[in-house]
Amino acid sequence: MPADAPDIRSILNRIDFDRHRVKPGERIDLDKIDPEGDGAFDGDRADAEAMFETLNDRLEVLQELLFAEGKHRVLIVLQAMDCGGKDGVIRRVFDGVNPAGVNVASFKVPTSVELAHDYLWRVHPHVPGSGEMVLFNRSHYEDVLVVRVLDLVPEARWRKRYDHIRSFEQLLVDEGTTILKFFLHIDRDEQAERLRERLADPEKRWKFRLGDLDARRAWDAYMRAFEDAIEHTTTTDAPWYVIPANRKWYRDLVCVATIVEALERLDMRFPPAEEGVEGVVIE
Ligand code: ADP
Repeated sequence: MPADAPDIRSILNRIDFDRHRVKPGERIDLDKIDPEGDGAFDGDRADAEAMFETLNDRLEVLQELLFAEGKHRVLIVLQAMDCGGKDGVIRRVFDGVNPAGVNVASFKVPTSVELAHDYLWRVHPHVPGSGEMVLFNRSHYEDVLVVRVLDLVPEARWRKRYDHIRSFEQLLVDEGTTILKFFLHIDRDEQAERLRERLADPEKRWKFRLGDLDARRAWDAYMRAFEDAIEHTTTTDAPWYVIPANRKWYRDLVCVATIVEALERLDMRFPPAEEGVEGVVIE
């Protein structure tokens, strides 16, 4: 399928990327961004799901191209409150994509060795190489989110991190990385419902952490921390997208569309076959 296939273009044209992309200098008030939002779909889930399937197929091809061409690097950062849907996005959006070409790096509570280094030390080894796509399930942003809310380092120290992070990401961009950062925006009621489902389901209960309730109690502090982090680190080259995520079908559609749109812009081509291949006959 050519990169400008009309069905892909027409689907992408129906997504209001501008509405979700945070512009440099823009002030963010998460209380004013509706987590139930679904753009122009107006509840038309079937329509969105059909579009999702087409874009998901296209992502498969684009990932092959990325790998085959071996020129570009793609980093996707996923941040959210607990139950915000990071795992769901990883499962659904990348369904069908060749697992050999996509890595997921999950960032948990730092180990003592990690804590003995600067906070970017554990992150840098996981960034994508040429032809690779890497998904960060949590990221260096935890160091201005949970670290700030739990007061794990003094404010004078974490405040400087916005500058470090901007510079770090600019370095990656300058060296050929495309960066997309997604904040999956759910509200407290939606989280309550998902936590209850998690508790009630014997196959999901293992995911429940009592500590998740502490983060839930500090919801407003987290929202302020997200707002500041997003405002201070959204750049033209490494933009944040605030994605309404109460409706999983809309969340998944906007995520896949944003990734496909960014990959289409790379205008990738399969490399030519090796010289002499045309005449080859396999016996
Ligand atoms: P997840 O919720 O992403 O599925 P876990 O339940 O294992 O995975 O949670 C990971 C935990 O690690 C989260 O509570 C997160 O806030 C914490 N964490 C990640 N990075 C840091 C950090 N730099 N400092 C402190 N805590 C962190």
